[in-house]
Amino acid sequence: MKIFNSLTRKKEEFQPIEEGKVRMYACGPTVYNYIHVGNARPLIVFDVLRRYLEHKGFDVHFVQNFTDIDDKIIKRANEEGISSSEVAVKYTTEYFIDAEGLGVLPATVHPKATESIPDIIALVQKLIDNGFAYEAGGDVYFRTDKFKEYGKLSRQPLEDLESGARVDINDNKEAAMDFALWKAAKPGEPYWPSPWGDGRPGWHIECSAMSVRHLGTTIDIHCGGQDLIFPHHENEIAQSEAANGCRFVNYWMHNGFLSIDNKKMSKSLNNFFTVREAAKSYGYETIRMFMLSAHYRSPLNYSEESLLQAKAALQRLYTTDEHLAFLSNNALSEKITEEESEFLLSLSAYKERFEQAMDDDLNTADAVSVIFELVRAINSGCSPEKNPSSEFAALCRARLRDLTNILGLLYSRENSEDLAAEVETLIEARQQARAERNYAEADRIRDQLKEMGIILEDTHQGIKWKRA
Ligand code: AMP
Ligand code: ZN
Repeated sequence: MKIFNSLTRKKEEFQPIEEGKVRMYACGPTVYNYIHVGNARPLIVFDVLRRYLEHKGFDVHFVQNFTDIDDKIIKRANEEGISSSEVAVKYTTEYFIDAEGLGVLPATVHPKATESIPDIIALVQKLIDNGFAYEAGGDVYFRTDKFKEYGKLSRQPLEDLESGARVDINDNKEAAMDFALWKAAKPGEPYWPSPWGDGRPGWHIECSAMSVRHLGTTIDIHCGGQDLIFPHHENEIAQSEAANGCRFVNYWMHNGFLSIDNKKMSKSLNNFFTVREAAKSYGYETIRMFMLSAHYRSPLNYSEESLLQAKAALQRLYTTDEHLAFLSNNALSEKITEEESEFLLSLSAYKERFEQAMDDDLNTADAVSVIFELVRAINSGCSPEKNPSSEFAALCRARLRDLTNILGLLYSRENSEDLAAEVETLIEARQQARAERNYAEADRIRDQLKEMGIILEDTHQGIKWKRA
């Protein structure tokens, strides 16, 4: 598989450190608010990366942190008159509701900054001991000019960065580009005791501390949105490499921005929709489908039109899936025929092309197109007019599900099996009523089905139902 590495700006063949294993880290949300649709983009695309690597047989160890102490959380706590930890707990819970809705699997570990304070303190101390950090007035800063490769990810030489930066006279820093590893406590803020007095961690240090704790000094993949390249990921590299004396990350992956009216969707511009709001209008799974319709590094624009398109595309997948389920349950014959077996073999070409697209830097846009080609092939090869065998219809459905499962699609109607059982019982009862000439009862059942959003249709295989 080839991955575009933001560090080298090249597509490179993916080679994990340890055969069969992938160590992967994603910078997680700061839990002070509901996540917006822009935040959902890295969640969804890197969830697909993880699923695809697992599909390829790797044992993926995936760490995604929660930043649960930070200026924005403290501000929110003061506004709401509750503690920072109450804010963090509340929005961590809300995060998991949205992540589950979006079909994003929980990471192997979800460490929290506030639960990693001893690791953070030990890491800061190590950086002080080896001269890469210094204490000043209860704060601790990273000494950027001592880390000679500072700027290598964002490709900005330190001199350029320094000339653009201003030194705030209230700062205790030696140089403008030095950044805080530890911040001295201010009145009314949460704090932890440390060798430099009471205080709390800076933002960047938590990822370096959690990454080494859960994945080791060098990891395979580190990912997040493009806006994290500078300063967050640049600073993570400086901290981790200065402390551990070895390469921090082999492959850096960054998703492009989700925009709205061609401006980056962000909390600060106040041009965002929360995932919760968007899910109310279009459904969670539509948001997932929408994200996967573009390559993860391309810009993607959020609009009603594109969400409705994604919704219709998803519906087409469900229609075929449910249709195949119906055919396999109601076929006139059981066993697959020779002709059907041959057709089934021809479908493996779609899986190959799907994998080629995914192997090319996770090109989900092309992978989704291949799924639609597969759907068209199945719709014609396994149509009701051909009286497909039950085995054949079930195998066609399995071929479709093989690919949609890798993208984590077709999950939100997982209970459709229960629904199918209920609908089919009602259909049988209606047939029975008709046979007994109890037309009032038959009509009542038809109305009941209609209320459930189910439409009945006469086909070769008997009465077929579909969602309105
Ligand atoms: P934040 O809570 O701002 O730290 O963002 C959490 C994650 O969402 C980070 O990986 C960001 O890079 C990413 N992100 C934020 N806004 C957008 C956006 N408009 N498009 C894509 N990714 C974004
Ligand atoms: Zn991070």
